[in-house]
Amino acid sequence: MDISLSKREIELARLGRDFFEQVLAPLEILTDEHGELPKEQRKPLREQIVKWGLAGINHSKEDGGLGLTMLEQVVIEEQLGRATNGLWTCVWRPPVSLRYGTAKQKQEYLVPSNAGDRRGAFAITEPNAGSDNNAVTTSAVLENGRWKLNGEKWFVTSYKASDFIIVHAHVDGDPAKPTLFLVDSNADGVVHLRSPKFMHNYAFDHAELRFDDVMLAEDRMLGEIGQGFELTKRWFVEARLQIACHTLGAATRALDVANEFAGGRVQFGRPIRDFQAIEFMLADMAVDIYAGKSMLYRLAAEMDHGLDQKIIHARASAVKLFCSEMAGRVIDKAVQILGGRGYMRESPVERLYRDIRVDRIWEGTSEIQRVVIAGQIKKRGLDVYAGW
Ligand SMILES: Cc1cc2nc3c(=O)[nH]c(=O)nc-3n(C[C@H](O)[C@H](O)[C@H](O)COP(=O)(O)OP(=O)(O)OC[C@H]3O[C@@H](n4cnc5c(N)ncnc54)[C@H](O)[C@@H]3O)c2cc1C
Repeated sequence: MDISLSKREIELARLGRDFFEQVLAPLEILTDEHGELPKEQRKPLREQIVKWGLAGINHSKEDGGLGLTMLEQVVIEEQLGRATNGLWTCVWRPPVSLRYGTAKQKQEYLVPSNAGDRRGAFAITEPNAGSDNNAVTTSAVLENGRWKLNGEKWFVTSYKASDFIIVHAHVDGDPAKPTLFLVDSNADGVVHLRSPKFMHNYAFDHAELRFDDVMLAEDRMLGEIGQGFELTKRWFVEARLQIACHTLGAATRALDVANEFAGGRVQFGRPIRDFQAIEFMLADMAVDIYAGKSMLYRLAAEMDHGLDQKIIHARASAVKLFCSEMAGRVIDKAVQILGGRGYMRESPVERLYRDIRVDRIWEGTSEIQRVVIAGQIKKRGLDVYAGW
């Protein structure tokens, strides 16, 4: 079994690393101090992304994307994940659900999103519908050939940096008809309630929105009536893999920083790495990263070899669960190794510590991933995870 990376994959990883170091890293402190990426930085950054050849990372060439394999995407995203303050999100990944749109929808939404001219936010969560997606009460009713949308959505990431929202609603308020809709942000009746502050200072906001009788043309429905959950599931798979990529990148950066610090910091007359307490932490961090990276790269390669969609969904949960929890353990140890310096905001490990906490919550909490994994074991047997 040859599992070495190809020359192209190594080159793409290098590209991602260079982009992080030269373009994203210089924006980190600025973003943290400002609370989000300052507005005046956004256009120049978009231009850099296009110039570096990173526009449309997750879509086919026919749809204006780069046509990369999953493993090629993973090696780039892992390097972008080194960035603090969620700056990796600036390298857009237009929602995969757009792939299932009509030719007209693709021309209007997907192609310009791949070019960086448009950006879409995704809204499923509501005040009373978090882990339980079926509890969504946002409704869409067809009236005289137009959809009427009503409801409230929370935690809509990147709302202010987007010009459209993919909204998960129930047609006629019926949970058996979950359906996606394309809503332009400037449509009448789209009300921005607020964008609260969170533990991390992320590149963009997380908004609370209300839809008050928002009227949509009939062709703003994405996919078919009742297909919403299936399309959202595809989004979850990709988003969970992306979380695995950036948490892996974050953990690896924290280990780099801690490893270097442990070699240079002298206490009691010797480098602290010579104390076994410190060296064992470095060893545990390295092993955690080795395990997470192995899982992620294996799944990406399997996806490129046509793994069944249901097994992809099952394994994506495991990879997301492991990598997000692994990064929490690794970065916590990095803070400990750096001592007081690890608690300073100017240190990347302090920022990573704040950033990484949400990865156990969004795109399905750790508990929900365990629910999925346990369900898969019951349904398909242990081989989904323990077999090869
Ligand atoms: C910064 C941020 C950005 C986000 N961005 C978006 C976005 O862009 N779009 C969007 O739609 N949503 C977004 N979300 C929402 C996110 O996906 C939800 O927060 C998440 O799914 C959990 O839902 P909840 O917060 O309502 O928690 P709840 O579902 O209320 O869960 C509370 C607790 O109960 C546990 N729990 C719930 N059900 C079970 C169960 N069956 N078994 C065991 N434990 C259970 C959970 O694991 C958790 O610990 C974002 C959230 C955050 C924090």
